Amino acid sequence: MVGCNRYLDPMDKKQKRSIVRRTQIPASVSRPVVTPLMPSVVYASKSADQLDDQYEGRLEGYTYAREGHPNATVLAQKIDLLENVNDGLITSSGMGAITAMLMATLKSGDHIVAADQLYGRSLRLMTYDLPRLGIQTSFVDPTDRTAIEAAIGPKTRMLFFEVVSNPTLRISDMRAIADLARKYQILQVVDNTFTTPAAYQPVDFKADIIIHSVTKLLGGHSDVTLGYVVASDSDLQKQIYDAAVTWGFTPSPFDCWLAERGLHSFPLRFEKAQSNARVLADSLGECQGVEKVIYPGRQDHPDFELAKTVLGENPGNMVSFRLSGGREAANRLIRAMPEVPFAPTLGDVATTLSHPASSSHRGLSADERLALGITEGFFRVSVGIEDAEMLCEEFRSAVSATLN
Ligand code: PLP
Repeated sequence: MVGCNRYLDPMDKKQKRSIVRRTQIPASVSRPVVTPLMPSVVYASKSADQLDDQYEGRLEGYTYAREGHPNATVLAQKIDLLENVNDGLITSSGMGAITAMLMATLKSGDHIVAADQLYGRSLRLMTYDLPRLGIQTSFVDPTDRTAIEAAIGPKTRMLFFEVVSNPTLRISDMRAIADLARKYQILQVVDNTFTTPAAYQPVDFKADIIIHSVTKLLGGHSDVTLGYVVASDSDLQKQIYDAAVTWGFTPSPFDCWLAERGLHSFPLRFEKAQSNARVLADSLGECQGVEKVIYPGRQDHPDFELAKTVLGENPGNMVSFRLSGGREAANRLIRAMPEVPFAPTLGDVATTLSHPASSSHRGLSADERLALGITEGFFRVSVGIEDAEMLCEEFRSAVSATLN
């Protein structure tokens, strides 16, 4: 048979008896062009001495998948390339990355200053879970340098911010955040999920720690749940690695394999999704029935100038808008576009629609939501890479269906 040397012999009685034993893969002078999937939980070393050398760092080698495996390494190194960093770590989810990072860096008595519009679970972690461990958080407006500085106290160890807030798409003053972190010698942590390294490079703003939910734009196909975390300081990264391994935030090799596959097209996907977002934002802006379009690339965005300094020419693929007509109109819009999944996620190749009042922000009172500008007619669109004209037509016709 072409390409396959015989490595098991049907005449060999010993081999027949030991069918349960693992064999080596057939030798080949050619190599696979696709990264092999390696689901092995354990890796066999040649001797106890060799294992010693591996654990002491004198030899490179895998031992146990919770401590690392090839598919996670390949994926981490590719995201490292995008972020201009070294030695990033893949975790089982974005929340796993955040939790490992917090467990590695903070102790009882410490204090965090964080944005008041973080991803819902991050907010919840800091509001309900960390206080049980004696860690308090002050939430501040990320666009307001004075408010951020005023919240920093003697026990503050960390500034935790996202670059673009969800779902109102406000822009954090990242330069001020970077300056304050340096001034007070505290960690600057950036969750770069929404922006991605294509739009924002935290290392350029001296971030100490970068987080990603790889589940979103980096994976890009809504078929993996993964996270990524990297610290610029290698000792800190080692502590985060140890926390992730101990607390068990291990990523699945298959998820890493899928995400690496998704990552190959990330630059192209981002470019097309962002270009679609610009077109859709302007198209929605002209629709009767749309009260307000929120897109950082539009001049009417409250942080338009700040967005240019933070994101340059990359306002991203997320567009929010407020429909008039309240919940009734919102339901009509969702029903009028069954091909655009109404799903609380973002970053898929295809456009998805989310309604914060009934999903991510349902835990807030109506007044609290209104204070953020989140009405019953508020939608957040994660724009995908479809044909732009088709997308605009779908939205235009769905918005007009809400008027009847
Ligand atoms: N950070 C941000 C900004 C997110 O949007 C999300 C999820 O939507 C997460 C973190 C958590 O990621 P995961 O769902 O992979 O745990």
